[in-house]
Amino acid sequence: MAEDETILVVDDEKVIRDGCSLILKPHGYRVVTAANGQEALEVLASQPVNVVLCDLKMPVMGALEVLEEAGRRFPDIPIIIITGHGTVDDAVECMKKGAYDFVTKPFRIDHLTLCVNRALEKQRLERETRRLQEEQARNLYSLALEQSRLHTIVNHMGDGLLVTNRDLEVVLLNRAFRQFLDLSAPPPLPGPLSAFFPDVGLQETLESLLSNPQRDPEACLVQDFCQGRLHLRALSAPFFGPEQELLGTVTVFHDVTSFKELDRLKTDFVNMVSHELRSPLSAIKMQHAVLLEGLAGELTGKQQELLHRAQARIQGLIDLITDLLDVAKIESGHRTLEQVPLSLGPVLVEVTDLLSAKALGQGVDLRLVTPPDLPPILGDRRSMEEVFTNLVTNAINYSPDGGEVKVSAAFNGNFVEVRVADTGIGIEAEEIPKIFDKFYRIKSPKTRQIIGSGLGLAIVKTIVEMHRGRIEVESQVGRGTTFQVSLPVAPPARNGEHGET
Ligand code: ADP
Repeated sequence: MAEDETILVVDDEKVIRDGCSLILKPHGYRVVTAANGQEALEVLASQPVNVVLCDLKMPVMGALEVLEEAGRRFPDIPIIIITGHGTVDDAVECMKKGAYDFVTKPFRIDHLTLCVNRALEKQRLERETRRLQEEQARNLYSLALEQSRLHTIVNHMGDGLLVTNRDLEVVLLNRAFRQFLDLSAPPPLPGPLSAFFPDVGLQETLESLLSNPQRDPEACLVQDFCQGRLHLRALSAPFFGPEQELLGTVTVFHDVTSFKELDRLKTDFVNMVSHELRSPLSAIKMQHAVLLEGLAGELTGKQQELLHRAQARIQGLIDLITDLLDVAKIESGHRTLEQVPLSLGPVLVEVTDLLSAKALGQGVDLRLVTPPDLPPILGDRRSMEEVFTNLVTNAINYSPDGGEVKVSAAFNGNFVEVRVADTGIGIEAEEIPKIFDKFYRIKSPKTRQIIGSGLGLAIVKTIVEMHRGRIEVESQVGRGTTFQVSLPVAPPARNGEHGET
């Protein structure tokens, strides 16, 4: 039933109006009537009407004028013309003016209802089509708006943006990136990465992301690049489609030039202060040594004890300054690493020999186990000594009297793995990610007595990473800690290349 649909019957003959009502009402239509065109327009203006049945000839206002006026004001209401015999030509004229159909008097009931149903169907279809068109227009508009918004945001970002597809072709870049790279006329998109960013380091990073994509949104690779006078920090990550399929990579370039400059100033300052402090401290330490040797007169037991304690503190300060200078040197890029084939066995022997007296003094059993056939790594001897001296010193320092420190090395795949294992105080799981931060020291009653700068592990990690290696930690509180350093084996030497050290 179509109770919501209203049919307006317009005819000057009451009998026609009543007749139509009688026919249409049983079909569920609401029927309203008007005696002429003028009244019909008033009804149309005052309430919703779906179809108009309109007599062709009426006093006051006929169907032609209704068609004209209603066509202008209510274009989506179909109008069916009711016409008598002999006026078919007029009805055809009405059709030309926009009438939907016509029925001739006297009309058949089924013909009238069929005509009305068809008109209603037409109206429904037209309204649905219009609704869909409007919805589509709205969607297109919001899509265009969204695109233009994104385009504006991307181009107004202070950070540079570079997006590649899975084939490592650049598909999108923004204005900041073009400015950073001085690309006033960038190559056409999509294009090979090398045409947009000359440093092969980025290419290698993106290749590794594409071959081993991490889905963790936090996992992005960070790299620093120097571009003329600009220092750029690049954060690269893979990105995925709605089905979690790999689509490409996105890299954001952050201009860190001012931070680098600040960092340089800070490094210069630390360098200057450290140099200024080191000489007087060394002089004080020497003078203490002279006093302790009794060269300036006999000392009482208490005086000796105090001088020993003061010496330990001064040594702590000298070590801190050495570490600070070391960090400053590494960070400023002034520390150059030799890359020569290096056998770690002798390095470990030297380090453990040097620290054996310290271990003995602290009641710690220090042992070294290395296989004789350890392949060489490609590295810098002095840096490797520093790495293992730091790790073994820590292992001794953080072990109680009677503890054990075992240094061992093994060959595993393409890496030489060195483990420094102690039976010391251990490290809480939540502290492990922080111990490699500069100046980070765990504060606990057990560590309070141990002098340190909190720089050792930061230096170790940096040096290991400069050798393309990695460092891992396993620890159990109260049971001990194991640091494992993995360093890539040196590629086989070619003719004419120098031998190992
Ligand atoms: P520090 O000069 O304090 O030793 P490090 O950077 O070498 O500085 O180490 C950072 C912190 O990590 C130390 O303060 C200590 O709390 C912890 N740590 C390092 N090595 C060990 C270890 N072998 N056993 C227990 N804790 C350790």
